[in-house]
Amino acid sequence: MAGVTRFAPSPTGPLHLGHAYSALIAASRGDRFLLRIEDIDTARYKPEWEAAIFDDLSWLGLRWERPVMRQSERQDAYEQALIRLDSLGLTYHCTCTRGDIRAALSAPQEGAPVIGPDGPIYPGTCRALGHKTGAVRLHMAKAMERLGDVRFIETGTRAGAHIISAEHLITQVGDIVLARKDIGTSYHLSVVVDDAAQEITEVTRGEDLFDATAIHVALFRLLNLPVPLFHHHKLIRDENGKRLAKRDDARALSRYRAEGATPDDIRRMVGL
Ligand code: GLU
Repeated sequence: MAGVTRFAPSPTGPLHLGHAYSALIAASRGDRFLLRIEDIDTARYKPEWEAAIFDDLSWLGLRWERPVMRQSERQDAYEQALIRLDSLGLTYHCTCTRGDIRAALSAPQEGAPVIGPDGPIYPGTCRALGHKTGAVRLHMAKAMERLGDVRFIETGTRAGAHIISAEHLITQVGDIVLARKDIGTSYHLSVVVDDAAQEITEVTRGEDLFDATAIHVALFRLLNLPVPLFHHHKLIRDENGKRLAKRDDARALSRYRAEGATPDDIRRMVGL
């Protein structure tokens, strides 16, 4: 597979077997392989986790192009994207707390809340209030009026052409947060703006992010950016079938390394 691929870890914990698998798959699928440090979540960021990312990936035998993109240095690009979406009339400010949203959704007339990729679908409380501050949300219904259904090509576990209907995005995803009040951006916005800036041709990630990909495809289109291919891969699970999490220190690469495992052992463990 020719093209540009990337691994985009967040330095908020140790890399585990699942990350090793994801990075190895991404590297094997591109003839250019890039790394991006997703460090927008400053509350959970630790420099030692970032240092460990470089160290573990080099140990695994991976090489990537330099300079490495860091999301903490990309605020201007995120701001530009927000300005564009705002100029299209597709955003609004929201001052709701999680508690406000829970309360609005528990009103008897609301029925059971629909849970989207980011949690309960936002009930739209602030949509028409004209706030000047707060988080920035995407007005999904207006965005879909512009786009209609969106499509992407998946080369991984659910290989084929996928169509995500406007209806699905409006009712099952809703008005997602584009910029959190504290950090001025969000995972969804940053990942799209940066995959485009790095000219990634195939985004490789775990299949747990399949639903998030639908959001990203819509954002690529709204921002007039080329939609890459997507390769969702299987998740590495523990012996109980539970997917590995950051706090799963037991499967941290550093732990295996300390116990004398080789990079080949890691490849075998993840089925490569
Ligand atoms: N930074 C995200 C993570 O650590 C993944 C990035 C992506 O592929 O969307 O899980």
